[in-house]
Amino acid sequence: MKSIIHPESHMMSYGYKPELSEGAIKPPIFQTSTFVFKSAEEGKAYFQLAYGLREKEQNEELGLIYSRINNPNLEILEDRLCLWDQAEDCAVFESGMSAISTVLLEFLKPGDFLLYSMPTYGGTDHFITQFLKSIGVDSIGFSPDQTKEEIIELVEGTGKANNLSLIYIETPANPTNDLIDIEMCKAIAQHFESHEKPIYLAVDNTYMGPLWSNPLQFGADLIIYSATKYIGGHSDLIAGAVLANRELMGRVKVLRTFLGNMANPHTCWLLLRSLETLKVRMEQQALNAKAVADYLSQHAMVSKLYYLGGLSPGSRSSEIYNRQYKSAGAMIAFELNGGEQEAFQFLNNLKLIKLAVSLGSTESLAQHPASMTHIGVSKELKERIGITDGLVRLSIGIENSNDIIADIDYAMSKIENKTISKKILNIV
Ligand SMILES: *Cc1c(COP(=O)(O)O)cnc(C)c1O
Repeated sequence: MKSIIHPESHMMSYGYKPELSEGAIKPPIFQTSTFVFKSAEEGKAYFQLAYGLREKEQNEELGLIYSRINNPNLEILEDRLCLWDQAEDCAVFESGMSAISTVLLEFLKPGDFLLYSMPTYGGTDHFITQFLKSIGVDSIGFSPDQTKEEIIELVEGTGKANNLSLIYIETPANPTNDLIDIEMCKAIAQHFESHEKPIYLAVDNTYMGPLWSNPLQFGADLIIYSATKYIGGHSDLIAGAVLANRELMGRVKVLRTFLGNMANPHTCWLLLRSLETLKVRMEQQALNAKAVADYLSQHAMVSKLYYLGGLSPGSRSSEIYNRQYKSAGAMIAFELNGGEQEAFQFLNNLKLIKLAVSLGSTESLAQHPASMTHIGVSKELKERIGITDGLVRLSIGIENSNDIIADIDYAMSKIENKTISKKILNIV
């Protein structure tokens, strides 16, 4: 039997040849803008390939030209990221937002129509509803509680179904962990697409990937990451990534070349280092999150808990969860009795857990969605999806879980208005 090496075993050396770098066990930082050709003929051959003027010869790799097009740190990183999602190709960007905006710009032209899940990351929402709209790309959002039939009806109701070109989803949704069914979205794309006009499905997999969900398996065409989060994992860099088949990645990479928003060699080098511990970090974060969720589920001040590890069996969410995810992840949100005042008292009394936005890092973070990450969301949508003034979001890190819980316990004890709640648990 052929043994398949797991991605985590490949993260230390895959795609790197020490003999090309004086035997250094790790890739040096290739802090260079350009690369010297051995001959004019070689330079010509590289450019022909880069511009698609000839086919690759067997086993031929694109030669190094210029760091906006390619660089060893960028290429090794992209090869390693492909392993987790079993994707044919990957492009790394200087931020999650640049990965997202590049995909949206490549697959949507003026006159096209976009269907997207709500809520999305605030920056994505702004790009869709403000920038894309300003260049003539209209869109409509659906919410996690809507069924396939309802969403199809929604699109038809706009009169723009014929122009639908892209479906963009973010699952689990931030901050309440609502789940979107990727296979259902693929079926919606297939419902509207024709032979002449494919409709692609893009999934922002930042919350669960690349370890716990691999959307290509469920019919997604493009996976997008903010690599600032779990992939980077140390709150010390900003980066993004897109993965897909060779054809779609060819398009994404050409646009990246001309927007010039690739990640720089140093960021790529940091990400290579992060990838070596990705699995152990994420697994410990998930274990800690389970302990924290267990604690919160018993706390008298908590009226609602949003955690994927305890969905009611038989519910639609639980069915999607079992199919799409391998872990409950490390993101938790909970509603405190009271409102903003109680939530702020809690947040201001945390000592170990830092009060900051972002997520997926080694340190635990807490924030207040209604007044921070989701301040731009309309009042109506906030109510619909449960972003209340008492809602707190936690990203659980790799500290000792007893210390995280003790920190939460202390901050809870500092809340002045201690109404005991009627608990509704695990509502997602
Ligand atoms: C942070 C985040 C982004 C944006 O990524 P940046 O790296 O900050 O540009 C996009 N989507 C999700 C789900 C995120 O959490």
